Amino acid sequence: MAKILGIIGGGQLGMMLTEAAKKMSEHISDVIVLDPTENCPAAKVGATQIVADFKDENAIQELATKSDILTYEIESGNTVILKKLENQCEINPSPHTLQIIQDKFTQKSFLSENNIPVAEFIEIESLSDLQNKIKNFGFPALLKARRDAYDGRGNYKINSESEISKAFEFIGNRAIFLEKFVDFKMEVSVIAARNTRGEISAYPIVENIHEENILRMTIAPARVSFAISEKAKQIATKTMEVLKGAGVFGIEMFVTKNDDILINEIAPRVHNSGHHTLESSKTSQFEQHLRAILGLELGDTTILHPTIMYNILGPRGFQGKYMPVKIDEENVFLKMYGKEESKPKRKLGHFNVVSTESQSIPQLLERINNLKNQIRIVPENF
Ligand code: AMP
Repeated sequence: MAKILGIIGGGQLGMMLTEAAKKMSEHISDVIVLDPTENCPAAKVGATQIVADFKDENAIQELATKSDILTYEIESGNTVILKKLENQCEINPSPHTLQIIQDKFTQKSFLSENNIPVAEFIEIESLSDLQNKIKNFGFPALLKARRDAYDGRGNYKINSESEISKAFEFIGNRAIFLEKFVDFKMEVSVIAARNTRGEISAYPIVENIHEENILRMTIAPARVSFAISEKAKQIATKTMEVLKGAGVFGIEMFVTKNDDILINEIAPRVHNSGHHTLESSKTSQFEQHLRAILGLELGDTTILHPTIMYNILGPRGFQGKYMPVKIDEENVFLKMYGKEESKPKRKLGHFNVVSTESQSIPQLLERINNLKNQIRIVPENF
């Protein structure tokens, strides 16, 4: 019998999950999302919405009561409430896994205890603790907030002793840890899935280019050797084996100058660096996530056409309603998220440029360069 799917979060990820769910009507009869923004992106594509804060206990309870299976597209969910609801409703990925991932220090400890490579890190309890420990630890190092720190917010690079106090002040009154600065040659990720039967499958490694700590572009597949891509796949598979629960996970990694791979962080959800799968692969990451939590066989993860995904971000210095964005070009697939207002750095949409048989990554990059200048977020009535 088809199930009712509940999603905590109805932003662009919830929207694309809803779109995938609508194509799987024999398995999913309805989608309900919980999101504080009225008429959120997922609601705009047909999800029923409960308007409430992500951490609102009554609203999460209501969502669980109304749903047969529950998932999330944000990682800041309230794990205490979710754990309580586990008897009542199937929740995936498991709240236990979410709890491990929410605290970056716990996440890194978990990974290193399972012999999964991460940059060296140590716990820090106070400013004096930091001052004492960093001398042996060495510079440069990153001081990181343990929780609620995304897109580089909550990280401070300490280059020398003179920057210690400033870094401590920057992070503010939050639990912290210290991590070795990795002089990486590339940032990559693997989107991996595990279904409720324990089967694991991973998409090929992709290359991520960030600007000001926000993902700007994903090149699929990554421009790395076969050996590196195999190593990344092995590490991703091992990670999926040790983490409980079903679903798609975005596993972000560094490729070091020595061609080692270190995990930077894991997102227990569909991931921005997997948006290329909408056009590059037979199974999108959104369908894959639904297949995983429904206990269906996982779909084919082959990249059929090299693809570059480019994020459309709100420009600096402008907040407000904006003119519709359009691209009308062959093999370019635009997806806007239906967000009414632009804000600086806000993810408003993305486009995928898909290669034809004769095109290679350098040619796709050239196309991206031309296209990005065409796309402008400008005020309504510009
Ligand atoms: P985070 O929010 O911790 O994932 O970090 C955001 C970005 O900061 C990453 O995408 C990297 O570009 C950079 N970063 C994080 N950790 C490190 C590290 N240990 N060494 C070098 N760069 C890092």
